[in-house]
Amino acid sequence: MEVSLKEFLDSKEDKREIEVTFSQESLDVSGNTCQYNDKDSSVSLQLMKEGDRGISYSGSGRMSFTGECSRCLEDVDFSIEFDYSGEVSVSDGRLMIPETSDEGESYLSSDGVLDMDALLSGEIYLRWPMKLLCKEDCKGLCPVCGTNLNKSTCSCDTFVPDPRMAVISDIFQGKNS
Ligand SMILES: [Zn+2]
Ligand SMILES: [Zn+2]
Repeated sequence: MEVSLKEFLDSKEDKREIEVTFSQESLDVSGNTCQYNDKDSSVSLQLMKEGDRGISYSGSGRMSFTGECSRCLEDVDFSIEFDYSGEVSVSDGRLMIPETSDEGESYLSSDGVLDMDALLSGEIYLRWPMKLLCKEDCKGLCPVCGTNLNKSTCSCDTFVPDPRMAVISDIFQGKNS
């Protein structure tokens, strides 16, 4: 979604409330593609004229996603909440858009259009879960047969011998003699 600050500046309104829609259906973060759940999300945006100093914008959001548990690969629903705000100064009735630097506000175009998808993506990435898990103690999948160990057990031998014990068992088996 795009919101023109220039159009708001030229309007007679002092304040405007906007319900923001996020246009992307999914987000890919470190190889995990997460579906965006539009119905379970809401993001607000408020535009305000600050006298002749400029325009401020602020809002808050709660955005919900479904991704894969990094251990058992089952679907996990999670949501990210955030607040955001910014300001653009006005001089002689014109928006003063700062030059975009590399890490700058690339979501604000030189003609005063806020690219809300870019702005929201930035907020989401900052708060993205480090590791997506269905639950803290998810047991994951059996590395041998792939059984989801949260749901059932298998009889695979996944015992990893302690290397120090391996030496002792070598002695018992006469390998060192
Ligand atoms: Zn899991
Ligand atoms: Zn198994």
